Amino acid sequence: MTSPVIEIQNLHKAYGDLEVLKGVDITAPTGHVVSLIGSSGSGKSTLLRCANLLEDSQQGEVLFCGEPVIWKGSGRNRQPGDHAQMIRIRTNLSMVFQQFNLWAHMTILQNVMEAPLTVLKRDRAEVEASARKYLDKVGIGDKCDVYPAQLSGGQQQRAAIARALCMEPKALLFDEPTSALDPELEQEVVKVIKDLAAEGRTMLVVTHDMRMARDISDHVVFLHQGRIEEQGPPEELFTNPKSDRLRGFLSVTQ
Ligand code: ADP
Ligand code: MG
Repeated sequence: MTSPVIEIQNLHKAYGDLEVLKGVDITAPTGHVVSLIGSSGSGKSTLLRCANLLEDSQQGEVLFCGEPVIWKGSGRNRQPGDHAQMIRIRTNLSMVFQQFNLWAHMTILQNVMEAPLTVLKRDRAEVEASARKYLDKVGIGDKCDVYPAQLSGGQQQRAAIARALCMEPKALLFDEPTSALDPELEQEVVKVIKDLAAEGRTMLVVTHDMRMARDISDHVVFLHQGRIEEQGPPEELFTNPKSDRLRGFLSVTQ
């Protein structure tokens, strides 16, 4: 059996005295979509950033394709101890953010090509062909030569997804990818994410969109104040929530 792309065990993370993650376990097996839901401030973004080592954590393990992250130091001084491993993990877990984070001074094509060229040092012609392919795939193949400001929010987010795909990552991490978009633009991004899920991409998705979470997920995790309050397959979690907190959360979000 292949190891899960992401495995997080008993993860603890604090910002100073503020304990944000209090022993979280999450597994994203190859080809599965795991969604993270929960109130604002429950630690969802922090968990995603810890998974791809954008953020240090004080305790617990992070495994990438079965390979444990090597730490140096402990507690507040703990950080990844093997730089090459850290870069490999980060580049294999591409992140899509709420605010797109495209480079304003680069065209859409340059945005998508940037990291494969500079971080992965791949061949330019090959990267360009791949960037055009992914921009086509997300439906904006005709926008290669324009700048981000000339696109709608939904188009910018699709460009950000193409940029993540162009890294040929082992998994995609989404942090509220549709929450900065107007409702009519939200659906074009949801459609792209649904297509990626149907293709069998491994994804860890933080979302406030319960309908999308229900449609795309193999597994849904409900975080509350840095702990997993409840988790399960979407059909169970959404139709038969067991905890009062999840019931309360769903009653205001669905
Ligand atoms: P969510 O994504 O679920 O809304 P976050 O992971 O962003 O939650 O935040 C969890 C908690 O950690 C919040 O209380 C937030 O204020 C705090 N927090 C997040 N990032 C930082 C930071 N860089 N420094 C200090 N506190 C932070
Ligand atoms: Mg967040």
